Amino acid sequence: MNEVMFQFFEWYYPADGTLWKKVSQEAEQLKKLGITAVWLPPAYKGSSGGFSQGYDVYDLYDLGEFDQKGTIRTKYGTKEEYMSAIHALHQQNVSVYVDIVLNHMGGADETEKVMVRKVDPENRNNFISTSFEIEANTKFSFPNRKKEYSEFVWDYNCFSGVDCAANVQEPEKCIYNIINDYGDDWEEVVGDEKGNYDYLMFSDIEFRNPSVREELKRWGKWYHETVGFDGVRLDALKHISPAFYNEWLDYMRTHVKHDLFVVGEYWAPDNVQVLEEYIRATESRVHLFDVPLHYNFHNASKAGKEYDLRGIFNNSLLSIRPDLAITFVENHDTQPFQSLESTVDAWFKPLAYALILLRKDGYPCVFYCDLYGTCYSEKRHDGLEEKIVLPKISALEKLLSARKEYAWGEQYDYFDSPNCIGWVRTGDDKHKGCAVLLSNGKKNKKAMQVGAQYAGKYFIDELGKDTREVRINKNGIGNFHVSAGSVSIWVPKD
Ligand code: CA
Repeated sequence: MNEVMFQFFEWYYPADGTLWKKVSQEAEQLKKLGITAVWLPPAYKGSSGGFSQGYDVYDLYDLGEFDQKGTIRTKYGTKEEYMSAIHALHQQNVSVYVDIVLNHMGGADETEKVMVRKVDPENRNNFISTSFEIEANTKFSFPNRKKEYSEFVWDYNCFSGVDCAANVQEPEKCIYNIINDYGDDWEEVVGDEKGNYDYLMFSDIEFRNPSVREELKRWGKWYHETVGFDGVRLDALKHISPAFYNEWLDYMRTHVKHDLFVVGEYWAPDNVQVLEEYIRATESRVHLFDVPLHYNFHNASKAGKEYDLRGIFNNSLLSIRPDLAITFVENHDTQPFQSLESTVDAWFKPLAYALILLRKDGYPCVFYCDLYGTCYSEKRHDGLEEKIVLPKISALEKLLSARKEYAWGEQYDYFDSPNCIGWVRTGDDKHKGCAVLLSNGKKNKKAMQVGAQYAGKYFIDELGKDTREVRINKNGIGNFHVSAGSVSIWVPKD
């Protein structure tokens, strides 16, 4: 099957509680476009209540059901609307992947006196103070949930670090490592960025505590029994012990859902080796987003004709572990004003989407803004508001239908020129094939062999940019065209 995942949210979606309803409304149309799975944002209550994107988890058991953090619903809607959205996708036979954020929690209900040591933010292995006491935001008792679904109370033994102390005015933010019953240092994570990047933000979860691991297994089972998801997207893998996820995923696949799909986010702009290292540490249990490939798209879009398209897959996860690569062009973290901002310029997006949708390898993920478009305002460093408009990519629907109708069978590459590359898909017994051509420079053309069965027949550009018809010669070769800085998808006429 030519699977396609769709990321059904963006960072700046309005905090009006309508997202789950929109998912229900769009489910049928997404199916028609060829979407086979939808990735939904974190559904539980975050520390900023109805304004939270969900990545600042307060209560994993509150899917928009309890009056906590000033609201019953989340940014995206109520629990009932969430469950209806999942039901609507399942009615269309579209899989549902839920976002799992287990690195940290925010918005503690009480502070506790805990012993800590300060660490150097740039080298977390460098402890820069002796131990001392602070008041930390580490007690989560969820008074308004009243122990519904779980009686577990989180305290300082469930966290390994915090970045603020209720009783200390720090001139700058600093990081405190908590001395608890399970350690006086950080947990082992994959990669050596900042010495040890276990700590990211808020109250960092301590997975060495067995009662934490048991509670998260209980929660995973409860979550699946409650909403019935098909897969998970794991947030912030860079900051979480791989040993924890090995244990958690084995539990989920043994006791909850044996074919649970898993994709993880490990943000590594130009370091595919660290992704390989993560795959080794988790023994291929997880797919990973192909972050280096996203950066190739970003760089290619900025460099224009100076970029050598023959190297577009260099150093990507796709090039070394195509079976585990989730390819994408943009996501909610790469949008303008986000901390990982690395947008792909609009002119290059149809080319990038052709590269992930119309080739044999990789499991592509389409971003919300590229299908629907968005606009929002954000404050710049100088305090002035800037309006961002991200228009929908008009060719995207046709690229998706081309994946469904034509991108099948064997693949033959023509990566033979720095500014113009192409490939042919041969088709199979149920689908016709196609010939795809990309240019990041001037208009161009390339002879590509589509097969002797097409001798004397004509190919047309499915994207409709080129109105010519290309006649296939007796050897099955056509001379295909592409406009400047563009992509064309040539398919058999009729
Ligand atoms: Ca962590």
